[in-house]
Amino acid sequence: MTASLEALVAASGPGATPRAGAICAHTHLYSGLSPLGMPAPPRAPKDFVEILQLVWWRLDRALDEATLRASARLYVAEALLAGTTTLVDHHESPRFIEGSLDVLAEESERLGIRLVTTYGATERNGGRDEGKRGLAECERFVRAHRASPRVRAMVGLHASFTVSDDTIREAGALARALGVGVHVHVAEDRADVEDAKRRGYEGPLERLLALDGLPRGSIAAHGVWLEEPSVRRADAAGAWLVQNPRSNANNRVGWPRALWASEHVALGTDGFAADMREEERALAEQAKAHDARDVEAVARRRAGGSAMCGEIFGVRFDARVGEGSAGDVVIGAPDAPARHVLVGGAPVVRDGALVRGDLGEIRAYAREQAARLWARLPAA
Ligand SMILES: [Zn+2]
Repeated sequence: MTASLEALVAASGPGATPRAGAICAHTHLYSGLSPLGMPAPPRAPKDFVEILQLVWWRLDRALDEATLRASARLYVAEALLAGTTTLVDHHESPRFIEGSLDVLAEESERLGIRLVTTYGATERNGGRDEGKRGLAECERFVRAHRASPRVRAMVGLHASFTVSDDTIREAGALARALGVGVHVHVAEDRADVEDAKRRGYEGPLERLLALDGLPRGSIAAHGVWLEEPSVRRADAAGAWLVQNPRSNANNRVGWPRALWASEHVALGTDGFAADMREEERALAEQAKAHDARDVEAVARRRAGGSAMCGEIFGVRFDARVGEGSAGDVVIGAPDAPARHVLVGGAPVVRDGALVRGDLGEIRAYAREQAARLWARLPAA
């Protein structure tokens, strides 16, 4: 422990202990404004695909640079205040692709959080050309951040069911050439499985593997509809799975019944605010209700997230500052809100307040941009 960390702990009073910063292993910074009065969809979605079509795909098409910036800034601010020090982001803004990842990185660096981002290439709006533009944004950004201490990137695909075989092959080849993984939604809903079967594959994971679209170190978010053999295949391929219990319950896509079979599962919020204590509470409750085999689910997902980020950044994600450690540490009483937060050994939250930003100003900017965004929705 370094002198500064010891001093912070000592000054924090009885019961204050350092713990490793929380890791949100799958989320969407672009949805950061959605809690600020996002209008209801034109009609009630009848299934998961309609939730995407009527809610999230309308939102992502309406994003421009300013609304994305405000969204990311608010999301990052609230994450840090909740003691979350790493966000693994999956981004889409189809009308603002080129340069969009720079906005996310600038907002993360402004407040001091650690970020792993990607652009989720898709063909759902503009076909193959849209897919190529998404992959090009990933390539440009990965190359620019190879040696960045706190911002890294992967190659991204939205999901198997919104891309062609060619885009999957290109994503896999690009990721291998760049030495990174592919971050993609896999089997979040039964619709993704049915689509892969219609294309002649056993499921979306098998389709991605068959097309060389999932190099080692890739992230398959959700895996709700993966059966045990598929989870074991993901493990053998060196892929990480990420469970998102609040989102899965909210979208009524089901309980991921085979994730217990892998030690490579981390926890994400899938766009919900990145307060990992809330997400862990939801996980513990749901695991108890659904699956007696998923013992120690919370501890296992935490370990999964630390190992995943260790692989990406090449340092240990523990409660230390110094040689070989990320230096992402939260100080406070156990189960209490974060009092002080360090990222890379530098303070980013002190006495419950942001060191490098003003929450009141961030919220005011977010409200202003949210009003603009909601006005843009009908045309999206
Ligand atoms: Zn997601």
